[in-house]
Amino acid sequence: MAYEYDDQNIFAKILRGDIPNDTVLETDHSLAFNDIAPQAPVHVLVIPRGPYITWDQFSAEASDAEIIDYTRTIQQVIDKLDLAPGAGGQGYRLIVNSGEAAIQEVPHLHTHILSGRRLGRMLP
Ligand code: IMP
Repeated sequence: MAYEYDDQNIFAKILRGDIPNDTVLETDHSLAFNDIAPQAPVHVLVIPRGPYITWDQFSAEASDAEIIDYTRTIQQVIDKLDLAPGAGGQGYRLIVNSGEAAIQEVPHLHTHILSGRRLGRMLP
């Protein structure tokens, strides 16, 4: 089944500048901003500028430049907020909800970066 991108989704509106966001950093291909309903003291969302819905679609269809930019943008947020445990930070969790079973609410690819408190186990 082919993906159909809905350009009225909230992150598409943020990318167009139709609604504001609390930007953490931005690059040619990606945007990082604070989640509007943070689940932890640090809760940043990183999105590609391109119209990708899920991780699998992004991996299959995005250019190498977009994929490199996206992964590096996630790392730049980790560095900017001093989260990396190897560099003295307290650690972080990355989450990418893709599709219905994962309860993805916004149909534009986003990686959650969570930190700032002990997050609890997700897996047994
Ligand atoms: P999902 O469940 O993985 O799709 O997560 C969607 C996330 O987007 C949730 O954590 C929401 O709080 C967040 N969110 C929804 N609307 C906005 C917004 O306008 N600005 C920032 N974050 C938002």
